[in-house]
Amino acid sequence: AAKGGGRGQFRFYSSELHESAEKRRRLEEDLRDALINDQIRLNYQPIVSTTTDTVIGVEALMRWNHPEFGDVSPAVFIPIAEETSLIIALGEWALRQACSDAMTWPGNIRVAVNVSPAQFAHANFIASVTQALAQSGITPERLEIELTESIFVNDDETTEQNFAALKRLGVRLALDDFGTGYSSLGYLKKAPFDKIKIDKGFIRDVTVPGSRNPAIITAIVSLAKALDMVTTAEGIEARDELALMRELGVDQIQGYIYSPARPVAEVSEALASGAWVIEPKGPAKQRAERRTV
Ligand code: C2E
Ligand code: MG
Ligand code: MG
Ligand code: MG
Repeated sequence: AAKGGGRGQFRFYSSELHESAEKRRRLEEDLRDALINDQIRLNYQPIVSTTTDTVIGVEALMRWNHPEFGDVSPAVFIPIAEETSLIIALGEWALRQACSDAMTWPGNIRVAVNVSPAQFAHANFIASVTQALAQSGITPERLEIELTESIFVNDDETTEQNFAALKRLGVRLALDDFGTGYSSLGYLKKAPFDKIKIDKGFIRDVTVPGSRNPAIITAIVSLAKALDMVTTAEGIEARDELALMRELGVDQIQGYIYSPARPVAEVSEALASGAWVIEPKGPAKQRAERRTV
């Protein structure tokens, strides 16, 4: 809360700004050595089929445990990594780690890895995917690469060549956060995606009477079916949302209703024993106070 009047208030905001700029600088500096210092981990979140009610894959989500600041959100450190090109090393590491983790899991479980636009555009990208597959020995179709529409900002020959190369390798491609960017349907024509991930922005308020989100999700599902792609809804937290996703024909569910991303040891154990908890555990209805955050 801002205390005092004019000048005091200015000082207050100014020191807070200074602190956040300082923190940003510290994070950037410390991120350079975070991999070497063993502060970076991959956690995995289950993706559950609405037809079989079983876990069909997991998404790798990067975690940074900073010695001073504790857990730093990827929403904070991934943008820093992207601005500083540290994303290349982090992204290559994530590909290798996720593939080698997947090698220890049952053979039908897929692993999804997020790839930033800068990593996708980097000259070494296809080689790093090839290497991660070769070193781990997983079959290519178990690896799913998640890309956002922002990769098309620099739409050039590299983009096209990368898609062709990835298809030749046999890995799967998912279009992440669908509906948050420009959502040009031209992207879907050009790029051979196997999956559309419906952004959690469409899930918030989806069960509120009068919401337009169910109609939008229906349209996305029908578009996906026509183009031979599957759909995953992200951010499902409540039972009424899960029921609605089934009704709308969404193929897969990812969300806290099943599980948040969990450490690899827990995930490996659950998958090995076939005991991954897939009972939905969320509240019956999405609560208003959760919807507004
Ligand atoms: P994303 O790829 O869209 O990942 C899904 C995000 O939604 C994750 O956030 C996940 O924890 C969160 N989530 C899943 N279920 C629910 C739910 O029911 N409710 C809510 N509120 N959230 C849910 P997270 O782990 O914080 O990651 C944020 C973003 O950071 C990711 O969004 C992705 O864009 C980026 N990111 C994470 N790991 C990597 C990585 O290894 N490489 C790259 N390039 N980006 C990554
Ligand atoms: Mg993702
Ligand atoms: Mg994303
Ligand atoms: Mg997403």
